[in-house]
Amino acid sequence: MLMMKDIVKSYESGGEEQTVLDHVNFSVEKGEFVSILGPSGSGKSTMMNIIGCLDVPTSGEYFLNGREIENLDEVTLAKIRNQEIGFIFQSFQLLPRSTIVENVELPLMYAKVHAKERRERAVEILTRMGLGEKIDYYPNQLSGGQQQRVAICRAVITQPSILLADEPTGALDQKTGKQVMELFKELNDEGRTIIMITHDANIAKHAHRIVKILDGKLSEGVLEDA
Ligand code: ADP
Ligand code: MG
Repeated sequence: MLMMKDIVKSYESGGEEQTVLDHVNFSVEKGEFVSILGPSGSGKSTMMNIIGCLDVPTSGEYFLNGREIENLDEVTLAKIRNQEIGFIFQSFQLLPRSTIVENVELPLMYAKVHAKERRERAVEILTRMGLGEKIDYYPNQLSGGQQQRVAICRAVITQPSILLADEPTGALDQKTGKQVMELFKELNDEGRTIIMITHDANIAKHAHRIVKILDGKLSEGVLEDA
C-alpha cells in the first residue's frame, strides 16, 4: 500500500545542511496499524508530511497505492490528500466558524458530493461516534476528546485507504487519549490502515507494529528499548 525507499530529507539553513530523514526505508501493508515512535525533533512530522503528500523528499522514492508520488501533478496530489488519506492532528484543526456537521462534510464538498448526500453521510458518522446531539454545535463548545472525535469523523468520511495521525492524543488527558486509541482499534478492525505518529510509548503500544525514529533514522524494534 505504501513504500518508502531510501528517503532523504534535508534542509539548508545558514549555509549548513541538516539531514532530517536519513535514508529511510518504510512500508505499510493494507490493514496494518503502525506507530512511528520518536522524541521531539526526530523527524516524525517531516515523515508524516511526506507520507501525506504534503511535502516531497530531497531524494529517494515514495509509492502510495501503486503510484510513484514524484510523478504526479498538483491536482492529482490534492485529490489523493482529500480522498485517499485521512489526516488527524494533535490540535484537531477544525474550522472554528463552521458547525460540527459542516466540518465533517468538508472533504465531501471538495469531492463534489451533492449537498443532501453530504449531510446524510456526515450525520450518520457523527451519530455512530456518539456525537449525534452535537451536530449544530461549534468546535469550541465541545471538549477536547469530542473535538478529536469530530476530526476523526472528518478524516474517515471519504473512506480513505489510510488514516494518518500526528500526535492524535497530544492535547488530550490520559483517559480521553485511551478512548481515542479504542476508536482507532475499532477503525482498524473494520479494515482501515492506520499510521500514527507519537512521542509517547504508552500510546504507541496500542498499534500492532512500532517503528522507532531517532535523528531521522528508522528502526523496527520492541517497546522496551524505546
Ligand atoms: P518531530 O515531529 O519529530 O518533532 P520534525 O519532523 O518536526 O520533528 O523536525 C525534525 C527536524 O527537522 C527538526 O530539527 C526541525 O528543526 C527540522 N525541520 C523541520 N521542518 C523544517 C523546515 N521547514 N526547515 C528547516 N528545518 C526543518
Ligand atoms: Mg512533530
